Amino acid sequence: MTTDLMELHPTSILSHAGPELRCVICRTAFEFRRGEAALVLRHVAYGYDFVHDGACLAAANEALFVEPGYDCAAFCRDPERRRVLGVEAAEGWMAVLANTSVPVGAAQQLRFDPLHCWVLMEHQDGSLLMEGLVRDEEWIDEPGGCEFPEAVRGQHTHLTYTSATGRPRHPNSRAA
Ligand SMILES: [Zn+2]
Repeated sequence: MTTDLMELHPTSILSHAGPELRCVICRTAFEFRRGEAALVLRHVAYGYDFVHDGACLAAANEALFVEPGYDCAAFCRDPERRRVLGVEAAEGWMAVLANTSVPVGAAQQLRFDPLHCWVLMEHQDGSLLMEGLVRDEEWIDEPGGCEFPEAVRGQHTHLTYTSATGRPRHPNSRAA
């Protein structure tokens, strides 16, 4: 993509500059429009990541997490989320999470995580759901650098999504 091309075809370039997911093994962006799917992996110590079926999945299964206290397989398939079938831009959208350790009656503490994109997720039961994906810039190239706010457990729990621009929620996302 050159500067000349961008000047000639600004809209067509923009339409191709949407969010993308890359395979954690071969680092190629998934081509969802050509029917590719991104299998969902869970990192043993961090968050989620994505991989092509076949050789990339085999390589991911061989990957080790060599760290004190671990020294084991880095990834496993997620028991709940099967694969991503598409992505959509989520500019201005944030996941709203509540701190669950706040005592009952105290003011609720909310956390707002900006979404990297929306993903069309196929779950293990075959259901399809649009859900937000959070990917910190700091962890963008690290294995397991993705988080699904709806999967967050422990000190925080997912409440809903909100848009800084006041747009209605994504039509296909789960009701709050
Ligand atoms: Zn791959």
